[in-house]
Amino acid sequence: MLSYIGIGSNQAQPIEQAKQAIAALNNIKNTTVLACSSLYCSKPMGPQDQPDYVNAVAKLKTSLSAIELLNELQNIEQAQGRVRKENRWGPRTLDLDIILYSDKVINNERLTIPHYGMKEREFVLYPLHEISPQLQLPDGTLLTEILKDCDKKGLTVITS
Ligand code: ATP
Ligand code: MG
Ligand code: MG
Repeated sequence: MLSYIGIGSNQAQPIEQAKQAIAALNNIKNTTVLACSSLYCSKPMGPQDQPDYVNAVAKLKTSLSAIELLNELQNIEQAQGRVRKENRWGPRTLDLDIILYSDKVINNERLTIPHYGMKEREFVLYPLHEISPQLQLPDGTLLTEILKDCDKKGLTVITS
């Protein structure tokens, strides 16, 4: 299966957190990182009194099920010091979200795939487009079509 993972961090050296996460993704059993976008800098969603985010999207090849993959992602988040808080969208060392898992549509207590926010999030769509410009969503929508309506909101590529 091909899967796309959204990576986000805004605490404890976010650039290093993102790079470490990419290495950790490649170390998941039965999983290989096929491609990774540049690192991007984005403005926080929700509470604005927190640092900007570092974001990226990785393309994986995996034989794990979606739920097995989620378990592995949550293990990596924990290993990199993620503390789950009451308030959503607060600062975090690492967030790993499954954006797409093959062309599957999944809706259960633990998983919503495609990720429910992907169509509105510039820090998902632009990195995704960088690595898979031809991508089509399970509902047939072209990524390029969604991008037309997606404001960059100050999103920049980190060059250093
Ligand atoms: P958002 O979901 O808006 O990006 P978040 O990533 O900060 O917010 P988390 O605290 O990381 O939210 O995750 C909350 C729960 O979301 C997880 O426990 C997980 O079960 C669930 N979840 C549902 N769909 C997905 C998905 N596609 N990828 C990752 N987690 C998901
Ligand atoms: Mg998230
Ligand atoms: Mg998450």
